[in-house]
Amino acid sequence: MELVKKILYIDMDGVLVNFQSGIDKLTKEELEKYAGQEKNAPHIFSKMDPIEGAIDAYVQLAQKYNTYILSTAPWHNETALGDKVGWAKKHLGDAIYKRLIFSHNKHLNEGHFLIDDRPHRNGAGDFKGELIHFGSDKFPNWDHVLDYLLNVD
Ligand SMILES: [Mg+2]
Repeated sequence: MELVKKILYIDMDGVLVNFQSGIDKLTKEELEKYAGQEKNAPHIFSKMDPIEGAIDAYVQLAQKYNTYILSTAPWHNETALGDKVGWAKKHLGDAIYKRLIFSHNKHLNEGHFLIDDRPHRNGAGDFKGELIHFGSDKFPNWDHVLDYLLNVD
């Protein structure tokens, strides 16, 4: 019997968080001001909804794995970090207590799995464990990710 849980990191934007849902809640003025740089709109990260199935998936995975959020906060949006912490607490509650990591260098974190939608950003592609490319043909949604991670040794 395995006594030590394997380490699983999960990205936020595009994996747990529906980024577009935040853009959809910006005002017309904000959309004009931050056109093409919506990630820099103040408090946009507090407006986003979870991706379908993400919260339930996180809770299930946290029972099998030593699970952390591994996300990046935009450098030029100084409300992003706090808003992301607030989002995680609001949607994941006790399951995320002190399990939040923010980094532009995800490859520096040791672990077994990283679920990320952008392998070419912020070191995700250089992660030394197994990268699960969320949104790819193999892992198009949470059903496919759960099917794999709940059954793999
Ligand atoms: Mg992402």
